[in-house]
Amino acid sequence: MSTVAATILLIEDETPIRKFLRVTLDAQGYKLVEADTAKLGLLEAAQAQPDVILLDLGLPDGDGVELTRRIREFSSIPVIVISARDREADKVSALDAGADDYLTKPFGVAELMARVRVALRRRAAMLTDDAGEQTFFEFNGLRIDFVARTVHVDGRDIHLTPNEYRLLSVLVKHQGKVVTHQHLLREVWGPGSQTESHYVRVYVNQLREKLGDTPASPRFIRTEVGVGYRFLDLIGDTE
Ligand code: CA
Repeated sequence: MSTVAATILLIEDETPIRKFLRVTLDAQGYKLVEADTAKLGLLEAAQAQPDVILLDLGLPDGDGVELTRRIREFSSIPVIVISARDREADKVSALDAGADDYLTKPFGVAELMARVRVALRRRAAMLTDDAGEQTFFEFNGLRIDFVARTVHVDGRDIHLTPNEYRLLSVLVKHQGKVVTHQHLLREVWGPGSQTESHYVRVYVNQLREKLGDTPASPRFIRTEVGVGYRFLDLIGDTE
């Protein structure tokens, strides 16, 4: 392929991880820009015009969540958080601050590359198709008609309640991205809703049942433990 190499900005203070990612991304033909502080990361986010940002949350001069918020003030570049497993709450904050996805350290190369490709595809779609409103959605046997508000799985008509339909629509709208419990509560039940986050789990389970989906080997919706849910982006994209 003769496409222009995508530029990835890596904001990470740990030298071994930077080195590993440099080798990996270089082998895949990506152009890499590196920053080892939040300050430099913010500068490069504005100057280097990256296509994707890989962001460590624990930086020597600042916090990745705050940095995400600053970046979102001027840019919609996809941000993938790379974070240690014991910082679940931080990952949620980062997603709520506008990050697109996260990877838990240690992560595998295949997973990293898949997430980067999803982010690049979303970026390309964002840049070329802001004409907007899709009228229908199809994935892995699921078909949603947003005009008629009908849902079919393998040609079978699925009857959803209004909340289940909204829930599915929000997940699909963010296909490939993690959507946090807070985000779902806000979008489905409205801002300031008193609904608690365990309702989200109850509704997702009902939705899965109606769609014939199972958490153990998801066909549509994957649980991101402690964080939220992700509508799958690739067929066969399972853990
Ligand atoms: Ca760090």
